Amino acid sequence: MIYLDNSATTPVDPEVLDAMLPYLKEEYGNPSSRYYTLAVNAHNAVEKAREQVAALINAKPKEIIFTGGASESNNFIIKGVADYKKHYEESGNHIITSTVEHKSVLQTCKFLNGDVFWNKSEKSVANQFLKKKSTTKKIDRGYEVTFLPVNKYAQVEKDSFKNAIKDNTILASFMWGNNEIGSLNDIEGLCSIAKEKGILFHSDATQVLGKIDIDVKKLPVDFLSMSAHKIYGPKGVGSAFVRQNGLSDFKMTSLIHGGLQENGYRAGTSAVHNIVGFGKACEIAKKDMNKYIKKISKLEIETKKMLTEKYPGIEFLGDPEHHIPGVIGMLIPEITNDIFIKNIADKVAISSGSACGIGEPSYVIKEIGIQNKSSSFTRLTLSKLSTIQDIKAGSF
Ligand code: PMP
Repeated sequence: MIYLDNSATTPVDPEVLDAMLPYLKEEYGNPSSRYYTLAVNAHNAVEKAREQVAALINAKPKEIIFTGGASESNNFIIKGVADYKKHYEESGNHIITSTVEHKSVLQTCKFLNGDVFWNKSEKSVANQFLKKKSTTKKIDRGYEVTFLPVNKYAQVEKDSFKNAIKDNTILASFMWGNNEIGSLNDIEGLCSIAKEKGILFHSDATQVLGKIDIDVKKLPVDFLSMSAHKIYGPKGVGSAFVRQNGLSDFKMTSLIHGGLQENGYRAGTSAVHNIVGFGKACEIAKKDMNKYIKKISKLEIETKKMLTEKYPGIEFLGDPEHHIPGVIGMLIPEITNDIFIKNIADKVAISSGSACGIGEPSYVIKEIGIQNKSSSFTRLTLSKLSTIQDIKAGSF
């Protein structure tokens, strides 16, 4: 299988797997237990991983909270800040985000905004309501959300962000790099607007971790979301960066209530093997990133050249200058994406958009104003293991 869907997930690095295995075999202690060696070893392994994740973004270890992945981090940060600000501090209830965020940000914001339609039970309640009143059901959860439109590269414009800020704005959440077409937002510019206006700033960094330099000592973001399985780590683990500045250690409501794991922010026995794997993946990324990103960028140029020769009508989407290395979102007018992908599926793995939006046309394509071309949208994403031989053998 030629695997070119690395924005959906990456293979686990063998070094990562080797680091994880002892915690699935002999080192099975609960890191929250006390005194005996197995527990202490598990605890130490989790704390070492915290240091490794923190080092990749130049954070302090205590600013890293382990979660079940980036979807959970996004939910935790947005709901946690919203709840704390509204109910504990009573300092505001307005959130600003964009229309092209990952679904775990979009749906969280829609939930806070009062929409109902996520799972089967909520859907059935909404349907009953629709039958009775023939209107959309909204629940007043007490929040207001602005979904900002984006430019042709799916980026948030700074002026549009500035104009959306109100007295009751508490939080802005904009993705760092887009998972479908690879454009990078000007996170530095957007974050500095938020800081000028005194509002908190979150960025979903899932697609950029291990691909661009992230330094939270230089960039004053308050929160980041990250995931292990996009950087050759295991699935089902990620983290939230929550800035702790000493003076006003950040306060937010927990998403999972229960025990005091992760400083009480996230209850539940830690998935030690997964956390260890995430730590190792971050350590490898910190060490090797500059080398493999150069390789991926070169391969991206070669791939685009090859595709252009084969499909003269091809159009590459996203910001050509500011984009995630190795993410190739494109329109190939000669094809219908689902048929094309299915036809080569036994040999090559590529996609027609985000794995979380499977079965639906890409909303990113709609939001950048080319909905009529959505059936020719295809995404091919490279990894440190991809080779030009793979691309040549891919018969695209
Ligand atoms: N945010 C972005 C930008 C993503 O690409 C993804 C993965 N598709 C997620 C969040 C969710 O990550 P996870 O699978 O770890 O929940």
